[in-house]
Amino acid sequence: MSNENLSRRELLKGALIGIAATSTASLVANTAHAGTPPMVSETDPQAKSLGYVADTAKVDPKVAPTHKPTQHCGNCIQFQGKLTDVTGGCNLFPGKHVAGKGWCKVWVHKPGTPAA
Ligand code: SF4
Repeated sequence: MSNENLSRRELLKGALIGIAATSTASLVANTAHAGTPPMVSETDPQAKSLGYVADTAKVDPKVAPTHKPTQHCGNCIQFQGKLTDVTGGCNLFPGKHVAGKGWCKVWVHKPGTPAA
């Protein structure tokens, strides 16, 4: 075995260790950022324009006369979570979560969930 072969092996070994270390560091960093997205605030301008509230029981009937208390984000077609999820994504608020018990004016019944 020549010194040149040894040196290539050492270089390759060092490169593989470097790749493994970088991948591990990247995985740790991605895991650290994989938390729950921020919640939509009722005071957010878009949320206000849609009449979003975090609790469907607090919808003002004067503002939303067709609202029913059984309507909530969990059974809305725009909700990306499951019926009973406490929070979940909404197609109208990319990158954020809404409350599963929330509601807004564009609520539409999600097929397959209890009728509202
Ligand atoms: Fe909730 Fe549906 Fe309004 Fe999104 S569109 S905030 S899921 S009621």
